[in-house]
Amino acid sequence: MALTPMMRQYMEIKEKYQDCILFFRLGDFYEMFFEDAKTASKELELVLTGRDCGLEEKAPMCGIPFHAANSYISRLVLKGYKVAIGEQVEDPSVAKGIVKRDVVKVITPGTYVDSTNAEYQNTYISAIFLNENGYSISSSDISTGEFKVTSFQLDDSLLLDELSKINPKEILIDSHFDSNKVQMITSIIPSLITIKDFSLFSCSEEEMISQFNNYSDADLDINCKVVSSVLMKYIFETQKMTLSNINILERYYIVNYMTIDSSSRRNLELTESLKEKNKKGSLIWVMDKSATSMGGRTLRKWIEEPLLIKKEIEYRLDAVEELVNNIYLNEDLREALKSIYDIERIVGKISNQNVNAKELLSLKTSLQKIPSLKKELSNCSSPYLKFIYDNLDELSDIESLLTEGINEEAPITIKEGNIIKDNYNEEVDSLRIAKVNGKEWIVALENKEREFTGIKSLKVGYNKVFGYYIEISKANYNLIPEGRYIRKQTLSNAERFITQELKEMEDKILNAEENLTTLEYNLFIDIRNKVEKQINRLKETAKLIGILDCLSTLALIANENNYVKPKINEEGIIEILDGRHPVVEKVIDNGEFVANNTLIDLYDNEILLITGPNMAGKSTYMRQVALISIMAQIGSFVPANKANISICDKVFTRIGASDDLAGGKSTFMVEMWEVSNILKNATAKSLVLLDEVGRGTSTYDGLSIAWSVIEYISKNLKCKTMFATHYHELTKLEGMLKGVKNYSVAVKELEDNIVFLRKIVEGGADQSYGIEVAKIAGLPENVIKRAKDILKDLEDNSFKENMNSISTTDIKDDKNILKETTTSEEVATTKIEKTKNDTENIQLSFSTLEKDTILNNIANLDVLSMTPMDAMNELYKLIKEAKQLI
Ligand code: ADP
Repeated sequence: MALTPMMRQYMEIKEKYQDCILFFRLGDFYEMFFEDAKTASKELELVLTGRDCGLEEKAPMCGIPFHAANSYISRLVLKGYKVAIGEQVEDPSVAKGIVKRDVVKVITPGTYVDSTNAEYQNTYISAIFLNENGYSISSSDISTGEFKVTSFQLDDSLLLDELSKINPKEILIDSHFDSNKVQMITSIIPSLITIKDFSLFSCSEEEMISQFNNYSDADLDINCKVVSSVLMKYIFETQKMTLSNINILERYYIVNYMTIDSSSRRNLELTESLKEKNKKGSLIWVMDKSATSMGGRTLRKWIEEPLLIKKEIEYRLDAVEELVNNIYLNEDLREALKSIYDIERIVGKISNQNVNAKELLSLKTSLQKIPSLKKELSNCSSPYLKFIYDNLDELSDIESLLTEGINEEAPITIKEGNIIKDNYNEEVDSLRIAKVNGKEWIVALENKEREFTGIKSLKVGYNKVFGYYIEISKANYNLIPEGRYIRKQTLSNAERFITQELKEMEDKILNAEENLTTLEYNLFIDIRNKVEKQINRLKETAKLIGILDCLSTLALIANENNYVKPKINEEGIIEILDGRHPVVEKVIDNGEFVANNTLIDLYDNEILLITGPNMAGKSTYMRQVALISIMAQIGSFVPANKANISICDKVFTRIGASDDLAGGKSTFMVEMWEVSNILKNATAKSLVLLDEVGRGTSTYDGLSIAWSVIEYISKNLKCKTMFATHYHELTKLEGMLKGVKNYSVAVKELEDNIVFLRKIVEGGADQSYGIEVAKIAGLPENVIKRAKDILKDLEDNSFKENMNSISTTDIKDDKNILKETTTSEEVATTKIEKTKNDTENIQLSFSTLEKDTILNNIANLDVLSMTPMDAMNELYKLIKEAKQLI
């Protein structure tokens, strides 16, 4: 048995698009077959049927009506599938044999333009390349025409940082790429991986030059060239057309922006909350009050890429300040900005040739606002606003073309006429007159025939099959004049007739209509092409509007939230008066947030050691300092009464416990991995936040790790550090290590309870208050009581002694190391000995603790409520535990 010709055609096409679900056009449906049908029926909840394909068994099949395709495509793509659209590519009426079909577009997660994306976020597709010179990444959002590329040294953490910033929906990877690296990437960035052989799959130099206006001057090294030509090739292959809006290749350098690694980005909740993974509760949720889509995207980019150069930061800050000080100006700007549509995306549709008249009208309305924006900006004095004023192109030529050409009431479809405005084109006007006149003539004919025949119910009607006709009801047949009408159709209770004269007029009317729609369509395409020629100017304008909106938004939130302009320094000083956490202050009751001061410098306040019980507010305080620094480097005002912020090259955070079980790492492993990453990469200009380092293991382990991490930072890295801990024992480090300064969160001790005051004060906490916090959390009274007893035991025993011995020895060792290198072996031996003693002490105190626990468990057994089986099990468990302690 052999496949039917149609199925053979299907197979030939499918062969080329194996990684896609092929939508195969058959009449008014897109059909899917075989595995594609099974997948689609499951994902889209479609009925799976079968179709004779010439083989013994029917081919599994499911289908969707072509006019509803968009929503199905969207669902598949958002689930990570690629969809290839196979259309009929020749006119069925002239086709010999089976109609030729081919794929006209491939829609993939990274190239899908989601028109329902109310969040106006960028959708990026990226390509990664590496060779012995390093990595390169190229990324594009085809809906806005953005196309950028960067290259950097062969450092996996830089790769992950950059990718997590871009957050592409799809990544193109060379088939020679190490599979471990692919796994490393997908464990951090949940995107679709598309594998291509880069040595065979790329655009030629000529194609790149003709695509990008600036290709030859874009300062591209070989890696940038490779990766961008692969990405461009993929865009061609999927879009099957040249996109004119992708015409500038932006070369950027990651060293120009603050480094925030992927886990810090998550921890600081810059663009999404940690728990819910949505915008609410993140920094952008507080900041994004943008009036336009372009402004929203620009702001997101700024938040993701804080600046490092003082002048550039101040350039933004000065503009924001001018708008903060001139509230009326800012309000007027926002009023105008609010009526501006997403010009970038409309331009994308123009170049994709799927723009409709309504969207061109939106473009026109948007352009009409530019003169008032310029007028508002004309008296501004800050350099950035002046720059925008000078460079904002009013695009009045395009605006008048659209105003004159496009009908205000144009429909969404572009092939049914009524798109072109009166007086734009003489031929359109005369055809319209002909159409109208013809219709008037018909009305006149109806009246004339009624009068002539005396049949009041006579009417002239129209249908697609017979055209215009005269209809006379059965009751009036006797009044029909002989020879006047030609019979055309008989209905059950009426007859339809035509006349020669009526048919001639029908031709004229229908021709006029058809000619008019064709002409209007052609004129529309002509207008679209004229606008397309100005794409560079439109893109530039859209970009400036995005920036203006962003600056204006920063001014708006500064006024609404009482932010201040930060002073920017490069001397390593962070000084904040009455700082607040921008998000927490929004989510707790109004006025409840307690503001706090911060001083970090290169001298006595380099490492702030913040002690205090859980829930006291330590993390909030540390994050607030990081967020204020980031906001300042974005060019935003900050939540404080006064702020002087030193530019940080990198911000690191180790905050909160998070398991990466899918990646095979436990909570503690993740914690140590993050700490190790920080210790390897932080510089003296970095800001490092370490929250509860060491909590993931036993007290002594944890304390020791925390201790030595602080030592390492103080001696080697010298970066601005905030170290929160509930190990109040660490407060001993102040005075022992250079730059360590104790702070604590004040708590008020009531009789048998504590109240959090949220105030950061100088000096360390002398206890952890863990049991008090546990009590607030509602642990049973006898557990609390027992915990207090155990704590007392521990404190009376070896714990404090251990701490004292570590600290003194450590100081001595330190001095030894400084004094004499030849004694380093001795030092090492002393350290090992001491560690051994410590370990014994630690084990001792643990066995005391565990014995107590066992005794306690026995004492608390409620034998009467146990089944014999429970009792046996419990006994077995206790014996096992006891044996471990012998
Ligand atoms: P810790 O890190 O010490 O365990 P958190 O920083 O997580 O404590 O703070 C616990 C809660 O306390 C926060 O969720 C917040 O609601 C509240 N909080 C923290 N800091 C402040 C503050 N400065 N003013 C008011 N409430 C605060």
